[in-house]
Amino acid sequence: MNDTSSWTLYKRLMKYVRPHWKDFVVAAIGYGIYAASSTAFAKVMEYLTNGIQNPDAQFRQFLPMLVVLMFACRGVGTFLGGFFMQRVARNVVHALRIDVFRQMLRLPGRFYDQHSGGHLLSRVTYHVEQVTGAVTKAVTVIMQEGFYVIGLTCYLFWTNWKLTLVFIAVTPLIAGVVAYASRRFRKLARRIQRSVGDVTHVASESITGYRVVRTHGAEEFEYERFRRASEYNRVQSLKESLTKSVSAPVIQTLMALSLALLVWLALAPDIMGGMNAGEFIGFITAASLMAKPIKSLTEISGMIQKGLSAVQELFAITDHPPEPDPGHIDPGRVRGEVTFDQVRFTYNKGDSDVLHGVSLEARAGEMVAMVGRSGSGKTTLVSLLTRFYDPTGGRILIDGQDIMTLELKALRRQVALVSQQVVLFNTTIANNIAYGQPEATREDVIAAARAAYVDEFIERLPDGYDTLIGDNGVMLSGGQRQRLAIARAIFKDAPILILDEATSALDTESERYIQKALEDVCKGRTTFVIAHRLSTIERADRIVVMDNGHLVESGSHDELLAREGAYAALHRIQFSDTAGTAT
Ligand code: ADP
Repeated sequence: MNDTSSWTLYKRLMKYVRPHWKDFVVAAIGYGIYAASSTAFAKVMEYLTNGIQNPDAQFRQFLPMLVVLMFACRGVGTFLGGFFMQRVARNVVHALRIDVFRQMLRLPGRFYDQHSGGHLLSRVTYHVEQVTGAVTKAVTVIMQEGFYVIGLTCYLFWTNWKLTLVFIAVTPLIAGVVAYASRRFRKLARRIQRSVGDVTHVASESITGYRVVRTHGAEEFEYERFRRASEYNRVQSLKESLTKSVSAPVIQTLMALSLALLVWLALAPDIMGGMNAGEFIGFITAASLMAKPIKSLTEISGMIQKGLSAVQELFAITDHPPEPDPGHIDPGRVRGEVTFDQVRFTYNKGDSDVLHGVSLEARAGEMVAMVGRSGSGKTTLVSLLTRFYDPTGGRILIDGQDIMTLELKALRRQVALVSQQVVLFNTTIANNIAYGQPEATREDVIAAARAAYVDEFIERLPDGYDTLIGDNGVMLSGGQRQRLAIARAIFKDAPILILDEATSALDTESERYIQKALEDVCKGRTTFVIAHRLSTIERADRIVVMDNGHLVESGSHDELLAREGAYAALHRIQFSDTAGTAT
């Protein structure tokens, strides 16, 4: 990140601050008051020294009042500055965070393939917080301490300009130290941010997959992975602290040296000349007061760098092109005729094709079972239908319309999806069934639950439809989770249904219920089933066999058996396999 790009980033970030300019101005006024009243301290010291030398009654009343007034003003300034700047900060964090999240809801499937969940999570938690460093903490220090330094400098010049020039001569030395430290801060900040992403990533994987971790006895492995991520974070954070801890005292020592030089010079008769004792004490006080704000000012560069490198990663998300949505047609409710026309697809440019020109037509209301070895492209083919990815060649038509011409929202409304890995949300059963439709009536939810044969177990739960089901439905059995997902698909009532059958063996009761539910849900819908069970395959109107990205056979169960081809071979394998899975 060079200076121009830092500046461009900063300007973009300031767009988030602009709506809160009023708060910002109030904060600035607060810092102005703070700086003025703090500078007054040097003046108070001057009065005090002179007053002690010539005490009188008026002085005795005046000085205490001045002290109280000074601190009261300082308090008001601190409050106005601190609170109103926080208002700006929290608003900016909130705005950035929801912008990033909104964008995440629009990003294409490829983006999720390329980024780990943990890293994406840390963007909306850790990174946005870091940004406040650049936006408000840095600005706070610049204003609060900057005004203070200006105030003190004015006082110094006003008291003795010659001495002040000597004092200022030391500045380039200090600037050098600051520049070096800030370069280092920038590098370390980026490493720390990435390491926080790693820590979140490893932790979230081990938390969601704790069963796999335990059954594979991988606790030590995961522990070690986490320990390494955390250790890296520790080392980088310490390096940052080291830079900070070394640079601060070095700067202070330089300040002390210049102060010593100052005292030595000030005591020289020809410079001391016109100054009285009060002015002398006031001058030295002001010069030494300079140390704290200057130190704070040197630290902001680290803060800004941290914030900017975080904001760079956030803008990388908000700048990422969203899912392409070129179509404008809203077909209402389609009949459900689906045509794949010479569809080709590859996940990454340059990789070999995953689908090599697949053509398939499904009539409205037809049930097409897809079978084939794992990795043959079945899931990929159906995921093109909802445009999670776009074909690299060929077309997909629904009711004769190219799906690229349909509005993405309208297209997805036509399709209900029951995926192999059931995704449930940690909310009530009713909300899971009517997902995304909070206005749904209880009757509709119950009707969908009946059709999916989930009502019998729901009614046995203490809170019925209002039972919370835990993260991804941990409180339900595998069969129950699947039936709940089917209920959700039934509730959506879409003309096209995609069903990725679970490969895992279910108990016979669940299996029977699911079969019955599927029979109902398929009625009047075009259904694509990625089939693993014979019962589904036999019920299908048509079976297509995929192999290595090609559609190799298509026909009814009997036709394909008679053909003695790929399907017949799969069928034979399945019958010799008691688990009854084809893939
Ligand atoms: P099936 O559903 O028949 O088991 P898939 O459609 O899941 O097969 O996979 C087809 C091929 O595409 C496989 O070789 C797989 O490795 C690859 N693949 C699947 N998903 C992705 C992805 N997100 N990124 C890259 N390659 C993928």
